[in-house]
Amino acid sequence: MKKLKLPTVLREYRPQAELAAKDRCDYPTYLLRLAERELIEREQRAAERRVKAAHFPVIKTLDTFDFAAQPSLNKERIHELIVGEYIERHENILLAGNVGTGKSHLATALGFAACGQGRRVRFFTVTGLVTHLLEKREEKTLERLLQQLERHDLLILDELGYVPFSKAGAELLFEVISRAYERTSLIVTTNLPFEEWPEILGSERLTGALLDRLTHRVHILEANGESYRLRDAKKRLKGRKSQKK
Ligand code: ADP
Ligand code: MG
Repeated sequence: MKKLKLPTVLREYRPQAELAAKDRCDYPTYLLRLAERELIEREQRAAERRVKAAHFPVIKTLDTFDFAAQPSLNKERIHELIVGEYIERHENILLAGNVGTGKSHLATALGFAACGQGRRVRFFTVTGLVTHLLEKREEKTLERLLQQLERHDLLILDELGYVPFSKAGAELLFEVISRAYERTSLIVTTNLPFEEWPEILGSERLTGALLDRLTHRVHILEANGESYRLRDAKKRLKGRKSQKK
């Protein structure tokens, strides 16, 4: 079993044999049960590896997302997206909204779900990715990084708009987005309306080309409510005030 790389069978063949004897099940059923266990655990291990490789800053899921706090978001639509068919269709998701409205939370939840569906996912903050790209270009290994990125099914680019780029940085980001076009799905989160993208990217022309690729097949989700943390803090403050009374 070790040589065949079947650790679950190795661990389970005896307890499962006892169970099979108790249930009076036949040999094929016993074998089926063992094989099923091996398969389930193998898939779990693979999903764990994919989650690790995705480098999420913190793991977030939809069950901890409070849709009531963000009524501008369409809950049904997000529950549809979480199934991951948009990735099969090479569509993108743009999550726009103010700071603290759950954009990173949702992007991570979508990415985490995709890992469970057998998809290769990678999370970056936009600034982190651009820095990484510039470094690799310096080291003359940019092409290798771009090829690695291309092997993913989903790239998450978090926080476009917080920091402006250099011209070279913006061009490299454009390169990633162009190469992903119709091949790798992108989830981009941003606090900026489209009109302000040229300021961050440094050029109208580049922004136009980038938006053209990004929004060709895109699901736009807008979270324009109040910051969740702020709301939470306000609630706690109110609670404390009413306690004092
Ligand atoms: P953004 O990326 O839009 O700035 P985050 O996703 O980082 O916001 O959210 C900030 C914090 O608040 C995170 O810890 C996140 O899990 C939490 N949060 C935001 N919105 C919600 C929500 N609607 N329900 C539950 N938690 C939320
Ligand atoms: Mg965020």
